[in-house]
Amino acid sequence: MRFVLAVSLFLATVAAQEPPDLSVVNQIKAEAFQNSKVMEHLEYLTDLYGPRLTASPEFKQAAEWALKRLESYGLANGHLEKWGPFGRSWSLEQYAVEMLQPRYSLLDAAPLAWSKSTNGPVSADVVFAPLPARNFDPMQSEKDLETYIGKYKGKLRGKIVAISEEVHRGTQAGSQPLLRRYTDAELADIAKAPEPVLRIAISPNEPLKIPEEPMARLEYLTSLPDSVWEQLRERGQQLINKRNQFLEEEGAVAVLQDDARAHDALLFGEGAGSREPKDPQAPPTFVVTKEHYDRLLHLVTLKETPRVQVNLRARQSQDAVEAHNIVAEIPGTTKPDEVVMVGAHFDSWHTGTGATDNGAGSAVMMEVVRILKALNLKMDRTVRIGLWSGEEEGLLGSKAYVKEHFGDPKTMKITAAQAKLSGYFNLDNGSGKIRGVYLQGNDAMRPLFERWLAPFRDLGVTTITIRNTGGTDHLSFDAVGLPGFQFIQDPLDYFTVTHHSNMDVYDHAVAGDLMQASAIIASLVYDAATRADMLPRKPLPKPQAEMEH
Ligand SMILES: [Zn+2]
Repeated sequence: MRFVLAVSLFLATVAAQEPPDLSVVNQIKAEAFQNSKVMEHLEYLTDLYGPRLTASPEFKQAAEWALKRLESYGLANGHLEKWGPFGRSWSLEQYAVEMLQPRYSLLDAAPLAWSKSTNGPVSADVVFAPLPARNFDPMQSEKDLETYIGKYKGKLRGKIVAISEEVHRGTQAGSQPLLRRYTDAELADIAKAPEPVLRIAISPNEPLKIPEEPMARLEYLTSLPDSVWEQLRERGQQLINKRNQFLEEEGAVAVLQDDARAHDALLFGEGAGSREPKDPQAPPTFVVTKEHYDRLLHLVTLKETPRVQVNLRARQSQDAVEAHNIVAEIPGTTKPDEVVMVGAHFDSWHTGTGATDNGAGSAVMMEVVRILKALNLKMDRTVRIGLWSGEEEGLLGSKAYVKEHFGDPKTMKITAAQAKLSGYFNLDNGSGKIRGVYLQGNDAMRPLFERWLAPFRDLGVTTITIRNTGGTDHLSFDAVGLPGFQFIQDPLDYFTVTHHSNMDVYDHAVAGDLMQASAIIASLVYDAATRADMLPRKPLPKPQAEMEH
C-alpha cells in the first residue's frame, strides 16, 4: 500500500511540473473564441484565391498572400520553399459540356486536371466505347486495354468517347445522412487497438496473386512491400499513358467518364493522366454526373446519336515547373534550435475552391500561429508552420521538405536537424472539429496527450487511439522517425459531399469546428514548445530500401 501511495505521489509531482498551464489555456481559448480570424483566412484561401492546384498561378498567389499574412502577425524567417520539378502547371480558364442534339441540355460536367485543351468549342457525336475500370489488378487491366485497342482501333476519330461502363445504380434512398458527427460508440471503436494481422511473406520479385475474396485480398494488399506498391503505381501510370496515347492517335475529340461519387449535380475530379511533359497528355477529359452520363447512354440505346459540344481552355506550361511550400516561424526563447512544427496541405483539386480539403486545415494552422503570436506567449522552442503543396499527388511537398531537412526514409540517412525536431501536428480531414488524436503507434505520447487534451474534453475531445491514420502529411515525418500526428475529426459532409468535389467551397466549412481545432492545436503546440523534454519517439524505422529485400 505504502509503495503504491509513494508511486502515485511521485506521479502527481511529475504531472504538476508538466504542462498544461491552465492560465495559458484560458488565454488561448479567449483569443480563439472571441477574436477568431480562422474564417477570414479561409475566405481568402477559397473565395478569392481558390482553387489551389499545385504549381498553378492561383496556388502561387494564395501562397504569397498567406506568407504576407503570417509575416503581418510577426512570424520570422518566412519564405516560399521550392521543390520539384512537379510537372506541368495547369489552370482552368473556361469550360462547358453541352448536349446539342437531340435536345439542348447543359450537362453537369467538370474537366480532369492536366487534360489537353480543346481548340475552342468543338461539337461531335458521342460514341459509347466502354473500358472496364479495375482497381489493383494490373494484369487484368493490361489485358482489358489490349482488347479495347483491338476493338476500337479506327472507330473513334472525330468522336467524343463515353468511356465508362454503364452501371445502373438507380436512385439510392438516403440511408446515410449527408452530414454527421462521430457517435460515442464510434469513438470507442476508434479507441480500440487494431487486432494484430499476420503479414504474408511476399517477395518483391514474385508475380502478383491478388485474391478475389475481400478479406484475403485486404491481407494480401497490406502485406505487399512498398517497392511492389511503387511498381503497381508505375504500371498503373503506364496503362493510363498508353490509353491516352491510343485516344490521341485515334483522333478522339474528348473523353466523358462517370464516377460513382458524381450524382445529384455533385462532381468529383482529380487528374486525367500524367502531368509529366515527357508522357502523352490526356485528351480533353470530363467527369459527368451519373444522371447526365446515363442520359447520353440511353439515347445511344434508343439508336439516337447524341451530339455534344465540349470546350476546355486550361492555361498550361509546356515544361515541368517547380512547386512551393510555405514556411515561417516563431523563434524560441531559450532553445531556439529545437523546433515544434504544425502543418497542413495548402494545395487542392480544381473543381471547387479547396475549402475543406484543405483550406480548412491551412486556415486553422495559420490561426494557431496567429493566436500564439497575438498572446505573445514565451515559448522555449521555435514553432514552425509548414503549408505544403503536392499533397494530392502523393504527399510530395512534405516528403520533399522532410528529405531536404530531416532525412531520407529510403536510406534512413538522417540530418542533425532531425534530432532537434520535437514533433509535427497536422490537420487534413475536412472542417470537422477535433475529437481526439491518433498516436500513430507511439504509446509514449499517450500520457502527454491525455494531460494536454484534458482542458478540451468538454469541447468533445475524448479519444486517444494507438491506431495509425494514413493519407496525409504527418506520414512524411513519421517515415524518418519523427513524432508526427493527425487528429481524429468529425466527418461532417467530407466523404459524402466535399472531398475533391465541386462543392468543396467556403459554405461547407463550419466556423465553430475550426475555432475549436485552432484553440486545441495552439494549446498543444504551446505545451510541446515549453515542456522540459522533446516529445518521446518511436524506435527509428528501418530504411525502406532495406525492408524490401
Ligand atoms: Zn484531398
